[in-house]
Amino acid sequence: MTEAAYDTGNIFAKILRGEIPSHRVYEDEAVVAFMDVMPQGPGHTLVVPKAPSRNLLDAAPSTFGPLFSTVQKVARAVRKALNADGVTVMQLNEPASGQTVYHLHVHVIPRFDGIPLKPHTGTMEKPEVLAENAEKIRAALGS
Ligand code: 5GP
Repeated sequence: MTEAAYDTGNIFAKILRGEIPSHRVYEDEAVVAFMDVMPQGPGHTLVVPKAPSRNLLDAAPSTFGPLFSTVQKVARAVRKALNADGVTVMQLNEPASGQTVYHLHVHVIPRFDGIPLKPHTGTMEKPEVLAENAEKIRAALGS
């Protein structure tokens, strides 16, 4: 088992630095949340700590307080915004688990009774749909 190093060129690091665009729904001093471009369901949001780590395995323990209190905020907001029946919270570590972007992040996915998740990293969503869902989630976070 080899431990790979954090790569500052990963796509979420670029999003955090503002080098590539994202549909942001939330930001504070420690955490950013934005829409997943290949959602596994409508309103699929990613909650990302600003502190660099590949995933949960190498993260500083101090990362998790701010990260998971934001996960809860975002989970409540996506449930309200999308009128969902439930919310899946998911977090993958290293390729064997299915992780594809190597900056720690938590998936927050609204769920609807009887509707399965779409495949992980399946189809790109239209930007206008991502923008519309982001707007609803921002509104729910603000209320
Ligand atoms: P992982 O497989 O690492 O747990 O999840 C990475 C997630 O990032 C996937 O759900 C994938 O759809 C999403 N993703 C990949 N590239 C981008 C991107 O450029 N922007 C956004 N917003 N999401 C991305």
